[in-house]
This record gives sequence, structure tokens and C-alpha cells, in this order.
Amino acid sequence: MFDSAKPSAIENTEENKQICRKYCPICQNYKKHDLRRNEPKELFCAQGPSSCQNMKEIGCFCPACELFNKHHLRGGYFCVRR
Ligand code: SF4
Ligand code: SF4
Repeated sequence: MFDSAKPSAIENTEENKQICRKYCPICQNYKKHDLRRNEPKELFCAQGPSSCQNMKEIGCFCPACELFNKHHLRGGYFCVRR
């Protein structure tokens, strides 16, 4: 059975990537570390963190994202945190 108490997993779909593109690529963290040069490039909440090393946490837009809210995610900085 599906456990509704746990955050639901975000699917790695093109539709979700398009939603992510409204937020991640314009945040300070993404621009400062030029995350488009590393894999994964987006949808970190589903694909896992960026392979970019030694990042600082300098401004995350995830809390504004509809996926973040719909799936009751917490914290943000999914590109950094493991
Ligand atoms: S929660 Fe963050 S990483 Fe996930 S889709 Fe939204 S903006 Fe991208
Ligand atoms: S996960 Fe947060 S900090 Fe990382 S690129 Fe997306 S919006 Fe920016």
C-alpha cells in the first residue's frame, strides 16, 4: 500500500523537467555554480544532486515550485544535498 505519510517520489519525466526549468536555472545557486555544465542538469529532487563539487548554498527557488508544494518536499537545495 502507498504510505501517504511519506513524501511522494517525484517522477523523472519531461513534464516535470519543464516545471523545474521555471525555477532551478534562474536561482542564484544554479547561476553561480553554472550547474548546466554538470549532470544531472535539472530536476534534482528526482534525479539526485548535481555532480558539481564544493557548492555553497546561496539561494534556492524550490519552495516556489509547484512540485515542491504538491509533493510536500522540505528543505530545497536538492542540487547540493544528498
Ligand atoms: S523542487 Fe526544485 S529541483 Fe525539484 S522540480 Fe522544483 S525547482 Fe526543480
Ligand atoms: S535545487 Fe534549489 S538551489 Fe539547486 S538549482 Fe534548484 S532551485 Fe537552485
